[in-house]
Amino acid sequence: MFDPPVPPADAEARRAAPPVVTYAVEHLPPFDAAFYERAREGMEKIDEVIVPPRDAASFRVPAGHIFRIVSIEGPQVGDLNLWNANDPTERFFSGKTRALAATHVGVGDRLWSNLPYLRAMATITADTLGWYGYDADGAGVHDVIGTRCDPYTNRLLKGVDYHHCCHSNLTRALAGATGMPLTQAEPLVHDVLNVFMCTGFTRDSHRYFMKASPVRPGDFLELFAEIDLLGALSACPGGDCGATHSSDAVACHPLSVEIFRPRAEALVGWRPAAVNPYPRTHGT
Ligand SMILES: [Zn+2]
Repeated sequence: MFDPPVPPADAEARRAAPPVVTYAVEHLPPFDAAFYERAREGMEKIDEVIVPPRDAASFRVPAGHIFRIVSIEGPQVGDLNLWNANDPTERFFSGKTRALAATHVGVGDRLWSNLPYLRAMATITADTLGWYGYDADGAGVHDVIGTRCDPYTNRLLKGVDYHHCCHSNLTRALAGATGMPLTQAEPLVHDVLNVFMCTGFTRDSHRYFMKASPVRPGDFLELFAEIDLLGALSACPGGDCGATHSSDAVACHPLSVEIFRPRAEALVGWRPAAVNPYPRTHGT
């Protein structure tokens, strides 16, 4: 049996090592607020997709366009997946976005794609919940901590099957958008941006927690597409995620995705993000 370890004599000194922010993000190109503000000015709404409650819908955003995820009717969390519209094996990388930005994202943060691409897929340009910050429980909104509710974890914990978890909703949406069979679409579904979700880690044991989202109808998160995007958004069966998820127990509401085209003049000189230039030789 493994006995609990005895702290060494210098335990406190070891704990007192100063924290160092892991990535030197000051080397990233700075957020060009003036450029994105120009892109937003006079943009024209060209499409709108309604995401039904406990289901997902897909949408396409050409590079250089803007999309908004909008709360309508009632408080509701949305689980967002993004793919390169021309190659869905390039997709949103929640873990690296968290490492480069923070546990929760807001205006100026970029959503990065997976390796070996690692480029900005989208940049957050507006967030009506930007006032929330971090509350007394340490919770914030729009997290890149959580993964997505899924039927496998539900089976593990509850022993029952529920087919409208975000994972299944996103799988059906991707299959529907691309014509792929479910078995091909499912492995391309990935860890999400939890839009409007209010989450944190408990102070004592650092366990992932959720609390009722502060989102209200009219609130939105807005993003600029840095490449051609195929997106899918699931209106989570957890509703505002203030109680439970992976069931039909709580109130759920639709969400809306609005697509906007900026004025052509606003994008003069702008180019879609390029893939990461690392040569992929890995030292060989
Ligand atoms: Zn969910």
